[in-house]
Amino acid sequence: MTVIYDRVALIGLGLIASSMFWAMKRGGLAKEVVGYARSEETRDVARQIGLCDTVADTLVDAVKDADLIVLAIPVGAMEGVAAAIRPHLKPGATVTDVGSVKRAVIDAVAPHLPKDVHFIPGHPLAGTEHSGPRSGFAELFENRWCLLVPLEGTDPEAQERLRRFWEAMGANVDVMDADHHDLVLAVTSHAPHLIAYTMVGVADDLRRVTDSEVIKYSAAGFRDFTRIAASDPTMWRDVFLNNKDATLEILGRFTEELFALQRAIRRGDGDHLFNYFTRTRAIRRGIIEAGQDTAAPDFGRGGKKP
Ligand code: NAP
Repeated sequence: MTVIYDRVALIGLGLIASSMFWAMKRGGLAKEVVGYARSEETRDVARQIGLCDTVADTLVDAVKDADLIVLAIPVGAMEGVAAAIRPHLKPGATVTDVGSVKRAVIDAVAPHLPKDVHFIPGHPLAGTEHSGPRSGFAELFENRWCLLVPLEGTDPEAQERLRRFWEAMGANVDVMDADHHDLVLAVTSHAPHLIAYTMVGVADDLRRVTDSEVIKYSAAGFRDFTRIAASDPTMWRDVFLNNKDATLEILGRFTEELFALQRAIRRGDGDHLFNYFTRTRAIRRGIIEAGQDTAAPDFGRGGKKP
């Protein structure tokens, strides 16, 4: 049990913030955690389930005297919140975020923050398709990466403290430049989500033709797509609106490869298909060897929370 920040303010009380709260509680990482969510409904749920030591009714009450402020809200909402909290931040406090896109968040938030506050953007590479205050759990960040994206001139001590905080919640921490982050995430997360949304949309159109057999006989491949495509619409709308260039670049490449595979199928070019699938299989093995997923049947999801 090591207190890293005396008072932490969680702005937004969804999957990421609630997981952070339970992880902080488990590790005794903060003396007091104050939470704030936009809707009264979410604040009421938080109070009912004991999410946060205090739930504030206003942004100002939440950030007042906080040593660490975490913006755990959709990317498109960051600018408005940064502008609103600006006059109420304690000098020397650290502001961080958990947004899935980094360049757009930096452009939106940094201009609003006073000079005597440390702004250190971050992104935990951990999530589920669930959202809201009830969806969090302390183990979410366990053995997952958290990327910190410090701006030029960031105070090394403030950065080190934030690193220790994420490590104490179970994450492995790396530092990355914002544009590189956005490109890497476009490949590993954003484009795959868009493809899953598309595949489920296509199947839904087809369902009308196949008389709901798509659902009834849903096999693993399609079911995995539906899990990803169940992710929060607001969050993902904001991701694509704010990581436009990198996502479009990857989708362009994706379309070219898809056409090549389409041509191989049409021409009966089994070698092309076999070699392609052999290469992709090796990537899956690499992910398992790196400890970022499990080789268990059903991707080990059977007993995983939530
Ligand atoms: P979530 O479960 O959908 O919760 C979002 C929270 O933000 C809710 O408490 C919501 O309040 C609040 N909020 C929404 N719009 C707001 C606004 N305009 N002003 C103030 N608060 C607002 O979201 P999440 O999954 O925790 O995601 C939060 C952030 O983490 C996003 O930026 C996302 O990109 C990033 N992230 C997500 C994942 C993931 O897999 N989910 C992984 C890594 C990073 P109400 O409930 O009152 O509406």
